[in-house]
Amino acid sequence: MSDVCSAKGCKAGVPAELAADHMCVLHFTLFVEQECTEMRRAAAFSEPRDERQAEFFGKIAGRGEALIHVATSGYPMTDEIKARILSTLLTLMNCRENIDRTAKRHSADRRFVG
Ligand SMILES: [Zn+2]
Repeated sequence: MSDVCSAKGCKAGVPAELAADHMCVLHFTLFVEQECTEMRRAAAFSEPRDERQAEFFGKIAGRGEALIHVATSGYPMTDEIKARILSTLLTLMNCRENIDRTAKRHSADRRFVG
């Protein structure tokens, strides 16, 4: 592992699967959780546009794939980090569901307004 995590004060190594993000597994999961919070907020308060939703779904799928690649790559991890990966995957799944539900609610609202 040549790369070191870009998070401030973190000296942990970056697995090859996360090289493009320059983050260790822990900071990547924290970053993804944060990103999910922002996407949920954006989906709830912005005018729903299909392209925006597609962008969010694409991002969620990409983050999930990255996590699964690290998780199954044989990269050495503590049980705590393994549990973090699982809970972050759950966050991604709930986030997608949440955005989906928000979009459906928005389109139902639009039907009644017309
Ligand atoms: Zn880190």
